[in-house]
Amino acid sequence: MPGPRSDGTTPTPAERGKARAVVRRLEERYPEIHTALDYENPWQLLVVTVMSAQTTDENVNGVAPLLFEEYPEPTDLAEANPEDVEQIIFSTGFYRQKTKSIIALSNALVEEHDGVVPDDRDLLVKLPGVGRKTANVVLAEAWGRPAIAVDTHVNRVSNRLELTTEKDPVKIEKDLESLIPKKSWPGLSMRMIQFGRDVCIARSPRCGICELAPICPSAGTFD
Ligand code: SF4
Repeated sequence: MPGPRSDGTTPTPAERGKARAVVRRLEERYPEIHTALDYENPWQLLVVTVMSAQTTDENVNGVAPLLFEEYPEPTDLAEANPEDVEQIIFSTGFYRQKTKSIIALSNALVEEHDGVVPDDRDLLVKLPGVGRKTANVVLAEAWGRPAIAVDTHVNRVSNRLELTTEKDPVKIEKDLESLIPKKSWPGLSMRMIQFGRDVCIARSPRCGICELAPICPSAGTFD
């Protein structure tokens, strides 16, 4: 049985039914969905997800091939000269902090996990530079685990659909978990993110062509 929402209340059957309808339509729109970030293994996914903060996936995909050519394994990046890494990832912004994080997390992986990305949120968030959102992305995407990563798109789309009234990502995650069957959690974030990019756009949502409009309380309120 799903748990309560972040405010302790239990969703009604009608609220659960609406959430299931949202998920169904998103699954119909995006039957196969994966992150737009390019990666070949869980460690690379972890690194590119950390690098994707405050920039576009395209920017990260532009520098990742050279980064992983120079540093093919966690042990290589763990021992890297920060200035060399900064030069490679410069165009993704916040490059000094990101360099520190990806070197430190690679080092921690090597020292504490034999270079293997743990399949466990509590262990993931202990890695340098890895927050709950990044941990959930890796759990869902790399391991197919039931985890919902809440970014700005998931936040916006969930609020417009009134699946939550919260702004805090952890509370939104709990509200979505409470409403949506666990089997649909792994691809949910990616579907909402892509939907937020394609249809439920931040400044000008395309309600006129949106298949969720009949069940969306915010439909047509942006003119
Ligand atoms: S109807 Fe408009 S606000 Fe609602 S989900 Fe669709 S695009 Fe977003």
